[in-house]
Amino acid sequence: MGVRRKYIRTTIEQLLESYDIKTAPVDVEKLASLVGANVQYEPTEDKLSGFILKDLQKQTVLIGVNKNHPKNRQRFTIAHELGHLLLHKKGRIHVDHKFQINLRDEHSSTGVSEEEKEANLFSAELLMPAKFISNDLAEIEAFDLFDDEYLKKLADKYQVSIQALTFRLAYLNYIQL
Ligand SMILES: [Zn+2]
Repeated sequence: MGVRRKYIRTTIEQLLESYDIKTAPVDVEKLASLVGANVQYEPTEDKLSGFILKDLQKQTVLIGVNKNHPKNRQRFTIAHELGHLLLHKKGRIHVDHKFQINLRDEHSSTGVSEEEKEANLFSAELLMPAKFISNDLAEIEAFDLFDDEYLKKLADKYQVSIQALTFRLAYLNYIQL
């Protein structure tokens, strides 16, 4: 199938537009509640980032986040789980009482499966929307992208790690890694 890059970009653009989100940082927890998912923070073992539980009968969704992780990582996790929720609707029509569980562990950050890659891309697109980045970068000189202080400032604005921002800038072809 391959990662649906265009579809993911469009899905997020529509999402941001319908909830009138125009500036960073994107409030992913609020967005989760707007699409009907409840976010809960629980301390858990380090290798677990979060999970999504769908109660197909009650039609409720719970996103669990590892409270022990740094704030930026928690935001990434929420966005990642939202990706699963909005992109991977497999099983939606099952009418059993069981929760459908989708655990996310450290391996997913390297993108082991297509679905994990898609959820990770969704997360990057949501936390650092291409248009927002383009607007911010329009105001600066290309030279600044190699300025660590500027990168730190930009990462703080989006509430993401510098590493996540750097990958994103490379993905969007602003820099080469
Ligand atoms: Zn995942």
